[in-house]
Amino acid sequence: MKILAIDTACDETSVAVTTGRQVLSTAQFSQVVLHKQWGGVVPIIAKRAQEEHIQPTIEMALKRARVSLDDIETIAVTFGPGLAIALGVGIDNAKELATAHHKKLIAINHMEGHIYSCFAQNSKGNPDFEFKFPYLVLLVSGGHTELVLMKDHGQYEVIGKTLDDAVGEALDKAARIIVDEMVYPGGPIIERLALQGNDTFIHFTRPMARSNNLHMSYSGLKTALFNTVRGMSDQERVRHMHDLAASFQQAAFDELVMKLEKAMKKYKIYWVVMGGGVSANIHLRKMVRKLVQRYHGKAFFPTSPKLYGDNAAMIGVAAHFHAQRGDFVDTIDSLERNARAGL
Ligand code: AMP
Ligand code: MG
Repeated sequence: MKILAIDTACDETSVAVTTGRQVLSTAQFSQVVLHKQWGGVVPIIAKRAQEEHIQPTIEMALKRARVSLDDIETIAVTFGPGLAIALGVGIDNAKELATAHHKKLIAINHMEGHIYSCFAQNSKGNPDFEFKFPYLVLLVSGGHTELVLMKDHGQYEVIGKTLDDAVGEALDKAARIIVDEMVYPGGPIIERLALQGNDTFIHFTRPMARSNNLHMSYSGLKTALFNTVRGMSDQERVRHMHDLAASFQQAAFDELVMKLEKAMKKYKIYWVVMGGGVSANIHLRKMVRKLVQRYHGKAFFPTSPKLYGDNAAMIGVAAHFHAQRGDFVDTIDSLERNARAGL
């Protein structure tokens, strides 16, 4: 069964053709260049770009998989969470396709997609592995920071989350403070700067280190960075950009890894899955891998760099397991976007 998957949750127009866990093709239009100068995603620009690019991206994905709509059995689309007006574009197109071509429709939660990015295979069926539940999932993206217990396909329990900003959002803001320009996205900038920085230059307090729960917090960290930079001259800031980035990044990631370890101990689960845009960070993956190794566990990350950020391939892979359970949209008209959908 081949699935045509669509994700327009935010600033990427992404379409993929998948079968089972295999990704047969992907096509993507990234709007990063359109939003860069504004220092973040501008909703109305995102919506227009989604509308402009959705059709050609669908055609490109089909062409790259060397299939036509006749070969597609099911359309899968992200219904949330994300930017409402961007989500709407993907949903409307998916509904039209499903109606016009008599396809079944599956609605997928974007964060569930990020989990399945770690279970995706290439068109040759690699990497090969068997599922072994339960998994402990760490979701790290621009809008979400969550610890999730995945008990089976489709069975999730959120056991911890950020009380304020998401870790990706914190990195985006930190980059603007450190570079003192409207840059976006900030995560990769911080990662690059941090490579040559001293992470003990400033010791930021790890906000939730003392709390016993599994929640995280980033707004205090951001304020601490802001105050530190405000106390510096411009020259000092520029001279220490690498050190500031390294110190902030380390504090932000310690916060995650500390809570991940707490969850591993509490639930005695040592198979860890990490997905979402921030999982692109090599230092964070190293930290998680090291932690998991200490417990003789296993770490699962998105199986290809294309799957780190927002993408439709992960939506197609997640949809395969919905299809196996017969979880299709009943009546096409009933599908609505849900910008704040939870797992
Ligand atoms: P998503 O919401 O899943 O699309 O992820 C976007 C978020 O991931 C943004 O906040 C980015 O700054 C962040 N991000 C992307 N690449 C990296 C990276 N290499 N290191 C840290 N954060 C990153
Ligand atoms: Mg995302």
